Amino acid sequence: MQFQYFMPVKIICGRDCVAQSASVFAAFGERAIIVTGKSSAANGSLADVQAALSANGQAHIVYDKIPPNPTVASVREGGRLARSFGADFVVAVGGGSPMDAAKAVAMLARQDAGDIFSYTATADVLPMLHIPTTAGTGSEVTPYAILTNDERETKTSISHPAYFPKVAFLDGKYMRGLPQSTAAYTAIDAMSHAMEGMLSVRAGALTDALAKESLRRLHAALPALTRGQCSDEDRDALLYAATLAGMVIANTGTCAVHSMGYSLTYFHGAPHGRANGLLLPEFFAVCEEKTPARAKEILQAAGFADSRALASALAPLLGEREKIDDETLRRYAQKASVNKNIKNCSVFFGEEDLFRVLKRSVGA
Ligand code: NAP
Ligand code: FE
Repeated sequence: MQFQYFMPVKIICGRDCVAQSASVFAAFGERAIIVTGKSSAANGSLADVQAALSANGQAHIVYDKIPPNPTVASVREGGRLARSFGADFVVAVGGGSPMDAAKAVAMLARQDAGDIFSYTATADVLPMLHIPTTAGTGSEVTPYAILTNDERETKTSISHPAYFPKVAFLDGKYMRGLPQSTAAYTAIDAMSHAMEGMLSVRAGALTDALAKESLRRLHAALPALTRGQCSDEDRDALLYAATLAGMVIANTGTCAVHSMGYSLTYFHGAPHGRANGLLLPEFFAVCEEKTPARAKEILQAAGFADSRALASALAPLLGEREKIDDETLRRYAQKASVNKNIKNCSVFFGEEDLFRVLKRSVGA
């Protein structure tokens, strides 16, 4: 058996774990910048963080201008604010967008990156504590920050070992008011991470074990997600599953589904998890041709007999499909073929394969 595995994030999981962990925050310095979006003020997560910091006498400012699919301008502004405030550490509160943005803010607080996408960062990055309020991206345990790249008309991941948060707090209570569609899309993102991770050239025994456990829990929550009636137990299980899938991709990276999905988000505004869900079944249909045994193992781990069964389970969660013409899809296939994720895939996906998946998924 041969593999490598790295996970430097301390995970604290449980009801009210943020409020009960003031001493954990105390270790990171005197001044914090909280990087977040708009929903954290309503779901209790922001208040819990502020109470913990205040209990320690730690000064803090809130930067809540991170939009979904974070922009370079928003993280630059956050970086400037962190500097002028003299922040010692960053607390990220929210879905994948604020959690990813916080990593860029933590770097920009210390480094003058020119073009952020071609810049080679050093390890001089503010320490971070992450609190996810969606169960999907696993950003709380990954070294990736995915930002909107307008120059290349796509989304681009920047990564560095120093972008791993120091601590991740998992408490499903913050997701009680999550819209049904967001709950479903983010769960599909986690499913996509676990399944793509198993297809990665860097997959190994340990990431497979984590992925299978993640997929088992995601499958168990699918009926509740489809009905739109998640219990607290479902939310806790989904959050745990998303973090497990994050631990997978932190080591394996993602593959072709994410590469193709970026165009559906950038050009059509499809939320990230929904974009993956539109593509995942047809991607696995091609995998069933190219690597039948491994495709079957992954689909069965996810609770599906084959890619058709996966398609049937996801369809009610995805809403009406986009209908995109061939010429446009060929452009997306070309863009996906040069994305760095593609090289991660243990199955060769050329431009024609990618076009086939796109056409069957969202073709006009
Ligand atoms: P998101 O963009 O962070 O959030 C989606 C929406 O849900 C936003 O409007 C957000 O509002 C709202 N929201 C978040 N938590 C909520 C809650 N508890 N209650 C009510 N509303 C809530 O979506 P996401 O799917 O979690 O993250 C997607 C991003 O993560 C994409 O940019 C994607 O590329 C990236 N991603 C990163 C990784 C990684 O490894 N780092 C992996 C996969 C995806 P506010 O933001 O205004 O609060
Ligand atoms: Fe993702």
